[in-house]
Amino acid sequence: MVEDLKEFEKLINEKNISDVDTMMEESKRLVKDKIPDFEKKYNEVIQKRGIVIDASITLETAFDELITKTGGEDLVMNPEKKEFHLITGLRGKDELGGLGFKQKVSLVKGILRKNEEEAVYRDYIQSEKWKEKNNQFVSHFKKCAKCDGIENLSSFHISLENFGEEEISDVEVLCWLCQMRRKPIKIELLKMPDPPLLADLEKIVTIRDIFAHVAINWLSNNLEFNDTTPYTKHFFKFNPNWKNVNVAFKEFMDLQKEMLELIPVYIKGVLLKREIFSQFLLGKPYSEILDDFEKLKGMP
Ligand SMILES: [Zn+2]
Repeated sequence: MVEDLKEFEKLINEKNISDVDTMMEESKRLVKDKIPDFEKKYNEVIQKRGIVIDASITLETAFDELITKTGGEDLVMNPEKKEFHLITGLRGKDELGGLGFKQKVSLVKGILRKNEEEAVYRDYIQSEKWKEKNNQFVSHFKKCAKCDGIENLSSFHISLENFGEEEISDVEVLCWLCQMRRKPIKIELLKMPDPPLLADLEKIVTIRDIFAHVAINWLSNNLEFNDTTPYTKHFFKFNPNWKNVNVAFKEFMDLQKEMLELIPVYIKGVLLKREIFSQFLLGKPYSEILDDFEKLKGMP
C-alpha cells in the first residue's frame, strides 16, 4: 500500500500532474480572481440550499400526518353483521422511522391517486351516462346473477378495464339483497391521468434533488446549476429553467407553500368524514370504535 502511494507520488511529480491539494488551491485562486462577487454568490447558494432542505423537513412532517391519518385500507367493522367501513392511516407512527423522503412522497402519491380515483368513480356512478348503461344491462340480464331474483336490480362493475365504456362482460346485475353482501370492487382506474397535485410532488422531489446534488456553475452570469454533466442532466429534463438557482428556488418554495396549505385541509376532510360516520352510524367517537376493534381482534 505504502509502496503504491510512493509510486503514485513519483508519477505525479514526473508527469507534472498537480495533486489534489494543489488542484484545490489552484481552483480557489481561480475562483477568487476570476469570478466577480464570488463571496456573495457563494453565500447565497449556501443559504438557498439550506432553506430548501429545511422546507423539505417541514413538508415531511405534513406527509407524516397524511400517511398516518389517511389513505389506509378501509377498516371493516362487523358488529352483529352490520358492515361498516372506516378509513385508517396507511402506516402506523412507529413505521415512519425507516422511510426516506422519496418513499414518503410515493406513499402520499398513492393516497392522492386513490382519493382522486374514488371521486371520479363516484361521479360516474351518479352520472346520466351510467344510469342509461345500468338500464341497458338490467334489461339484458333480467335477473340477479346470484339468486335469480328479479326485483330491485342494478349493475355493478366486476372489471374496471373499460371504465366509462363498459360492455356486458364488465358488469354483473344484482338484486338489492345480494348487492348488500357484495364485497366492493377495488377502484383502480388505469386510464385516468394523474391529478395535478401528483405532478407537483414530482417537481418538489426533483428540485430538492437539484439543490442537494448539483454543483454550481460559478462561471455563469446568472447564478446557475451545472446541468451539463451526465449525472445531473436528467434533473433538468422536467424544466430547463431550473438551471437558474433563483427560478428553481422560487418554484420549490411556491410548491411547498401550496402543499402545506392543501395537505392539512385534506386530512381534516378525512377526519371529519370519519368522525361523522362513527358518531352517526355507530353512535360512538372514532377513538372508542378503534378501541373496540382492537379488543375484537384480540378475541379468539
Ligand atoms: Zn340476488
